[in-house]
Amino acid sequence: MTTPKTQIVIVGGGAAGLELATKLGRRFGRKRHDIILVDRNRTHIWKPLLHEVATGSLDANMDEVGSRSHCHRWGYRYFYGELAGIDRKARRVNLAAVSDERGREVVAPHSIRYDYLVLAYGSVTNDFGTPGVADNCLALDSRVQADKFRDRLLNHCLRVSRTMSADPASDARVRVTIVGGGATGVELAAELFNAADALSHHGLEVFDRSRLQVSLVEAGPRILPALPVNVWPMRRE
Ligand SMILES: Cc1cc2nc3c(=O)[nH]c(=O)nc-3n(C[C@H](O)[C@H](O)[C@H](O)COP(=O)(O)OP(=O)(O)OC[C@H]3O[C@@H](n4cnc5c(N)ncnc54)[C@H](O)[C@@H]3O)c2cc1C
Repeated sequence: MTTPKTQIVIVGGGAAGLELATKLGRRFGRKRHDIILVDRNRTHIWKPLLHEVATGSLDANMDEVGSRSHCHRWGYRYFYGELAGIDRKARRVNLAAVSDERGREVVAPHSIRYDYLVLAYGSVTNDFGTPGVADNCLALDSRVQADKFRDRLLNHCLRVSRTMSADPASDARVRVTIVGGGATGVELAAELFNAADALSHHGLEVFDRSRLQVSLVEAGPRILPALPVNVWPMRRE
């Protein structure tokens, strides 16, 4: 009788899960271990790059990692699926069905046995329950959200450019308010101006950074609180 392989299941192939699966795959291989990475996305992009994806400075397709080819290369298996529950008694993770954008089922609900289970499904932006945030704001937690932001931004820039072509005296602007003066918010603000400069080379001849108005809202006394005070040039309003 063959001994079953030791099954290590990692849920979430982000910064932590992908690295762990890679290291375990490299260390143990497929001979006596079955290392399984489950993620609801087929590709991974390093989250700190999302502000560049959101402004169009970075083409996410160039920088993301495809889970299928990566697992083939590094000795683990990848399952496309979303965690629905854990049966600790039976030592199984239950995965929900995955459907395409037309609602047709792609992957049926199923469960995977584990000997070791690692939950690495990350976190999402905390809106502190502030009314209206969920309905009216965009977060930057995933590539989908970054793509959505970029599309809205570009469409708005195009509208402003068109208005200015028709009426050069117009005060049309792209106004962006960013909530949170940590690294993501500050980098996004800066990247928006880089993107505005680049747009003039990409067909928006009547558009420049003066048409962009970015407001950064921060509840604390200063932005970038993790940095020393001497790197804190900032205009407060
Ligand atoms: C815009 C932005 C900028 C950042 N900049 C920096 C920085 O400059 N420096 C820094 O150190 N950190 C930065 N961070 C934080 C850093 O990205 C996170 O700390 C890190 O990604 C956390 O890693 P993680 O593996 O825990 O989660 P994640 O990287 O978020 O990975 C979670 C994974 O789990 C998957 N998942 C989630 N739920 C499920 C589910 N139910 N079923 C299956 N899969 C699921 C997701 O698809 C994702 O692939 C930034 C974060 C953001 C959003």
